[in-house]
Amino acid sequence: DTDTGAGSHDPTSLRTPIVAVLGHVDHGKTSLLDKIRGSAVIEGEAGAITQHIGATAVPLDVVSSIAGDLVNPDDFDLPGLLFIDTPGHHSFTTLRSRGGALADIAILVVDVNDGFQPQTLEALDILKRSQTPFIVAANKIDTVPGWNPNEDSPINATYEAQSDRVSSRLDESLYEIIGNLSDEDFSADLYWRVQNFQRNVGVVPVSAMTGEGVPDLLAVMMGLSQRYMKEEMEIDVQGPGVGTVLEVKEEKGFGTTIDIVLYDGTIKADDQIVVGGMNKPIVTDVRALLQPRPLAEIRTESRFEKVDEISAASGIKVAAPELADAMAGAPVRVVRNRELDEVVEEVEAELADIAVDTEEQG
Ligand code: GDP
Repeated sequence: DTDTGAGSHDPTSLRTPIVAVLGHVDHGKTSLLDKIRGSAVIEGEAGAITQHIGATAVPLDVVSSIAGDLVNPDDFDLPGLLFIDTPGHHSFTTLRSRGGALADIAILVVDVNDGFQPQTLEALDILKRSQTPFIVAANKIDTVPGWNPNEDSPINATYEAQSDRVSSRLDESLYEIIGNLSDEDFSADLYWRVQNFQRNVGVVPVSAMTGEGVPDLLAVMMGLSQRYMKEEMEIDVQGPGVGTVLEVKEEKGFGTTIDIVLYDGTIKADDQIVVGGMNKPIVTDVRALLQPRPLAEIRTESRFEKVDEISAASGIKVAAPELADAMAGAPVRVVRNRELDEVVEEVEAELADIAVDTEEQG
């Protein structure tokens, strides 16, 4: 183990895994995210999801109420899942954290009828190169001819409600997807047959339309994260924040702002930050940290509300001077009690890495 014994107190805590959704156009990425958000809003009376800038946080208790018997919250200590709202592999490739993908885990959406398509293969290639663990959502199962839909049902229950003819048709499509994955050197199987998700890719039949299989999808994501990624989720939550720029945007009343995903530490409204810029790192002071305001309150006030601080993993809009040259995909680091020079050097090194990768990808 790498315990350095550096301190007597242990400020380590577990952050939310960051989830990205990839797949071919029209295979249902946006619909699936919408369905998960929608289900989370309905089930979320106890914990409630929080809408972040560029992301949606679904806490464990909400995951558990959507997934029912499939997720017992006592079995988990990860706090939930943070879904990046912009689907697609373009955003996935630009969104990096030090040395790897920003997303800790991914959902590859494949239309059961349409099967593997060019962007499915591209996405697989990206997942392979970035070594991002993923599961396959075999989507649109409700379009199998003769399908008998069961809103929001777990897969085994809805399978039982189908005729033999219908369920074997679905099986055929699923095995075709499993075969396609194997052609790409991924050993895959239906998720309930997978013992080791590090070795095998789990395929989860779902419908973003009816919500069937969504309980299973969330259960598998949560289980996989807890089992295989817990150590990577250990962060010094009070430490200086580290993140990645999602988007650079003009915002009325705030000038140029950056939407960031924070994957380590905390950012505070009075922090000094270093942001990757087009020519060189930008050193600036946070003017405001902004979150989307709940829909009901938007009519009277600004779309955003100011927060004093926020911890990883989260999405947040940062207003600060000098951000015009900031770049999507660039690193953001909080300085706080660290040496400014050292932080600037880290951001420079990360920017150099991004430049090399961009060249390699042509
Ligand atoms: P994206 O391009 O991957 O984000 O795909 P969208 O989410 O925009 O979906 C493309 C189309 O497929 C839309 O018309 C959706 O309504 C439809 N769609 C997505 N998921 C499902 C599903 O599970 N069942 C059915 N019947 N239609 C779906």
